[in-house]
This record gives sequence, C-alpha cells and structure tokens, in this order.
Amino acid sequence: MNLEAYKGIMVYSEINGEKIIDNSLELIGEAKRLAAKLGNDTKVLAVLIGKNVKDFSKELINYGADKVIIFEDNKLEYYRPDLYSEALEKIVNKYKPEIVLIGATYQGEEIGPTTAKKLDTGMAAHCVELRINDKRELVQVVPAFGGKVLGDILCHDFRPQMASVKAGLMKKLPYEEREGIVEEFNCAIRGFGDNIKVKSVNVETKTLKSLNEADVIIGGGFGIGSKDGWQELEKLAKLLNGATGCTRPALDESWTEDEHTMIGTSGVAVKPKLYINAGISGAAHHTCGIKDADVIISINKDDSASIFDVSDFKVVADWKKIIPLLNEKLETL
Ligand SMILES: Cc1cc2nc3c(=O)[nH]c(=O)nc-3n(C[C@H](O)[C@H](O)[C@H](O)COP(=O)(O)OP(=O)(O)OC[C@H]3O[C@@H](n4cnc5c(N)ncnc54)[C@H](O)[C@@H]3O)c2cc1C
Repeated sequence: MNLEAYKGIMVYSEINGEKIIDNSLELIGEAKRLAAKLGNDTKVLAVLIGKNVKDFSKELINYGADKVIIFEDNKLEYYRPDLYSEALEKIVNKYKPEIVLIGATYQGEEIGPTTAKKLDTGMAAHCVELRINDKRELVQVVPAFGGKVLGDILCHDFRPQMASVKAGLMKKLPYEEREGIVEEFNCAIRGFGDNIKVKSVNVETKTLKSLNEADVIIGGGFGIGSKDGWQELEKLAKLLNGATGCTRPALDESWTEDEHTMIGTSGVAVKPKLYINAGISGAAHHTCGIKDADVIISINKDDSASIFDVSDFKVVADWKKIIPLLNEKLETL
C-alpha cells in the first residue's frame, strides 16, 4: 500500500433529529488540531451522506471543515448500515484521507468497523485521546481493563487510520463565518439490494433533554434503590429543565431504559453547569465522565463515599429526605 497517497483528515458527519450531532462537530475541531500537527497544509474533509443533506454544509464549514463532500441519493433517505458504509467506503477510496474520524454513536459503531473491513484497514473504537507521533502516525488512545490502563493503538501499514470517539471528549471550534469548498460525489450503491424496505418510521419523543444539551444533569446510582425512586430524579430533572444520567448499576437495574444516559468510561462524558447526584459511590469509571462539570453536588448517606472527593458540595444524607423535598419546593415556585 502506498501510504504517501493518503492525505487529509475525514470526519463522518452524522445527522440526527434534523441536525448535525455535536459529536461530529467536536471531531471536526479535533481534526483541525491534528491537521495542524501533521502540517503540510493538511485539510479537514467533512462527509455528509443522506438525502437532501446539502444544507448542512455551511454549518460544517463554519465549525472548521475545509471541504464538505456530499453523497446524496434517494436510497440514503433513511439510515441503513449496508448503504451508508458502502457510500463511505466509496468516498474514502476516492479522496484517500490518511485519517477517518467517526462518532462512537449507534450509527458510528455500525458503519465505522464495517467500512474499515471493506477498506481492509484497522479501526480503534472509543478512543479517549488522539495524537500524532513523530512518524506522523495517529496514536489512538483506548482505555482497557475498565480504564485502569490506556493503550496506544497504531495502524502502521494500512490507510486510512480509523478511530471512533464518544461525545463530549473533544472540543468544538467556535462557530464563525469561515471559507470552505462543497463538493458533490455520487456513484452506484447496492447494499443488500431491495431486500430491505423501510415500512414506517417511529420517532421516539423525549420528555427530558439529552445529556449533551442539558445545563443541569441529575445523576442517580445504585443507592436510588428502585424505579419509583428514579421517578423522583426525573421529576427534579424536569423541574430544572435538565436531563438524568446514571451509573452502570442503575442502568443494569433498568431504572432508566436509555443506555445513552450512562456516564463514565463506557458511557458518555458530560459537561453540565450543574451535576446533582444521589446514591453514587464515586467509582473512577463514573467520575471520569463528570470531570468537566462546573459544579458537583453529591448526596450520599456514607460520609466516606469517594464521590465527595470530586464534589464541590457534599450532602451526607438519605436522598429520600432531600430530593422529594426539593421537588416539592421547586413545584411551588
Ligand atoms: C470495564 C468497566 C467499565 C465500567 N464503566 C462504567 C461507566 O461507564 N459508568 C459507570 O457509572 N460505571 C461503570 N462501571 C462500574 C463502576 O466500576 C462502578 O461499579 C459503578 O460506577 C458504581 O455505581 P454506583 O455508584 O451507582 O453503585 P455503588 O458503588 O453500589 O454505590 C451506591 C452508593 O449509594 C449510596 N447510597 C445507598 N443508599 C443511599 C440512600 N438512600 N441515599 C443516599 N445514598 C445512598 C451508597 O452509600 C453508595 O455509595 C464500569 C465497570 C467496569 C468493570
């Protein structure tokens, strides 16, 4: 493989709910940072795949993309991993980027590795840090053994070097008027043919904000004790116009059904202005996901719980004596 033929950093830009997800915009910011390290006028290419997606190009440029490559096709109206990964494969083969970054979302986790396999290259999933080493290779830092060890993954002999990153770990550039090129690309794609047909689309309605758009997050752990208890947390989140987040045990207990709300090593990293949490012990797997919260208030009945080590305010109490009262008070305001 002629590694020299591969240039530039490509970011797969995911659209969800009629907008480009923050995860992709953060990766454009990260790609710009890596491009500066690579030097040689390395460009950041954002890829948009779908039907009628052109209108998102300007936003990608204003967040830092030098070029936006658009692959529009009627077949791409609804997300399908077979068609989307084929489209991405074709784009990569044409533009030959040395690096491809993709959000570690449901979509990214499907089409990332699928595309890597089609391209016969490697992919490091859930990277927490990306660097360029002195050989101009991408160092993909991935946690192992529950976050106790960080491993550097390198893809010496194949291109592109592909990595996925969860939301909240990288930084968006400020949105400002920037110059960029928009280019359309098209070719035949087949996927699994006509055997798959979308019969209907049911959009889930959310009553709470998502974790990355909420200024206030109410976190709950195993100490909440029941689904009924969880509803008190959701009530507080609604009253404060926020979102709920959880630890692994709370998710395992199915008190919350949305697995995207797990915070920590295997979940998401959050950056709210206020993180109020209850019944959480403070395991490193969880606290690594809240380190960028501005203010942390923790409620735990155990005075020695390690969550207090990372908190700005500690409340040593049974949460049942605090949160329902808080809800009552807020309801009267
Ligand atoms: C590979 C790996 C990855 C992991 N990834 C994640 C991850 O991404 N996110 C994550 O969260 N975890 C993750 N975990 C699990 C993590 O190690 C911890 O086990 C988990 O975070 C603990 O959750 P918890 O604090 O809810 O439960 P516990 O540790 O059981 O703590 C419950 C707390 O509630 C308090 N409490 C009990 N009753 C009350 C009450 N009535 N009022 C007030 N306080 C009360 C207790 O004092 C205790 O401190 C991972 C583990 C592994 C091995």
